[in-house]
Amino acid sequence: MNHPTTDLLDPPAALLPGLRPGTKEVRVRLAPSPTGSVHIGNVKTGLYNWLLARGQAKRLGLEGSFLLRIEDTDRNRYVEDAAVQLLDILRWFGLEWQEGPDVGGPHAPYVQSERLPIFQERAHHLVATDHAYPCFCTPERLAAVREAQQARHEPPGYDRHCRVIPAGEAADRVAAGEPHVIRFKTPRDGETTVDDVIRGPIVTANETLEDAVLLKTDGYPTYHLAHLVDDHLMEITHVIRGAEWIPSAPLHVLLYAAFGWEPPAFIHVPLILAPGGGKLSKRHGATTMAEFREQGYLPEALMNYLALLGWSFDATTEIFSPEDLLKKFSVERLSASPATFDYQKLRWINQHYINHILTLDDLTSRVIPFLARAGMIGANAAHTDHPDYAAVREATALLKDRLETLADAPEHMGPFLVEDLPDYDSALLVPKKTEPAAAQRGLEATLALLPGLDLTDEAAAEVRLRALAEELGLKTGQLFMAIRVAATGRTQSPGLFGTLRVIGRERLERRLAAAIDRLAAQPA
Ligand code: GLU
Repeated sequence: MNHPTTDLLDPPAALLPGLRPGTKEVRVRLAPSPTGSVHIGNVKTGLYNWLLARGQAKRLGLEGSFLLRIEDTDRNRYVEDAAVQLLDILRWFGLEWQEGPDVGGPHAPYVQSERLPIFQERAHHLVATDHAYPCFCTPERLAAVREAQQARHEPPGYDRHCRVIPAGEAADRVAAGEPHVIRFKTPRDGETTVDDVIRGPIVTANETLEDAVLLKTDGYPTYHLAHLVDDHLMEITHVIRGAEWIPSAPLHVLLYAAFGWEPPAFIHVPLILAPGGGKLSKRHGATTMAEFREQGYLPEALMNYLALLGWSFDATTEIFSPEDLLKKFSVERLSASPATFDYQKLRWINQHYINHILTLDDLTSRVIPFLARAGMIGANAAHTDHPDYAAVREATALLKDRLETLADAPEHMGPFLVEDLPDYDSALLVPKKTEPAAAQRGLEATLALLPGLDLTDEAAAEVRLRALAEELGLKTGQLFMAIRVAATGRTQSPGLFGTLRVIGRERLERRLAAAIDRLAAQPA
């Protein structure tokens, strides 16, 4: 087998599905609409685009560029600030674009609302070449048509009323300022084939296609026109997008033909299904990137999991760092069948990264914002020379195997970070089959020997406290439980001697004394 090299003059198309002969640069894009929070489905699609350009293409010795384009032409769904948040969350996630609204590039601007004249010019070009026509139908007329169709049990759709208006008359009405849209003059006969890289040819009879709107009354283009013109002008070679666009894809192929342009390669990736079927939505749990970040998921873990929701490397490998994905991803292994979102598995992968992949310092710096938000440490603790940093690092080392997400940190780390424990149930201090008096005696004796106990030597501390239990006639389990509760306010903690080491002598002394007071205050 020939190994591709960067100086390969004309990489054969077979190297990469959909690559036109002679093309040396793979150009892909993520084209989100700023309509609210970013859904993980969009990000999964963006991820595959990124991996194709920055991973697979480069491995094949090709150039690879990933573009970010903001598709904000639907003014009814436009949400202020959504684009800013979008960039922020995509950057957090780890996608890096070579061209985009913030970084610029040869095809700027990358925000569609700043490109209106381009789309308007293209729409008028289609009218001039008899591939499109102005439509003057009012919303009322369109609603009446729809109602009549419903009454006759016919599929809804535009009845091509304005298609037959003579061009001269239509031009006069446009010139007179009559409100209108521009519709595509979809061929009425024949069929259109969409060649999908992972699905094969999808054939549609043209008569089933509507005369879709390309330019709206407000002068803004629809998605059909805008994305297609931009994909062409921005020299996109592969369009990886959600399967919800399959029904529109024949229209797009026809539009490319009407412009006399060659379409890019299409790859329609499946939607994400909810557990139990159907579309993944709010009622199943988090669905937006912002929610997952908020809930303490790591971008690497999310990337790993989203990659697997429609792509596999082999039947067994589940852990892929971003670098692994760039090394291993190939469009050939994308699946055409939908995958079900499994929150449990995502948690497992997240925990795996927390436990086995991140370095201790990396993990420490990532739990800090969650602890700061819970008010447990200072907001500036992220600096390694901040006094809280070392404490958080130590607690993180002790507790990381209990964290499924970063958001679990405050709950588990609380007793190790605060000076004084929040209130807890004093009854917990009295282990089963003991009396308050026995527990109190145990804690008093522990407090008494604390000055001579080296808590940093866990093994020695254990030997000493086991001996103490025996001296007091208590079971070790009973003494240890009373100490654990006094030290943490809880019956569950990591190993007792690790716990005591991290809490440290001073805090332990205070907490033992406080527990003893609580027991003493209990009615006999
Ligand atoms: N703006 C479209 C969306 O957000 C982009 C679809 C595409 O990738 O072409 O759904």
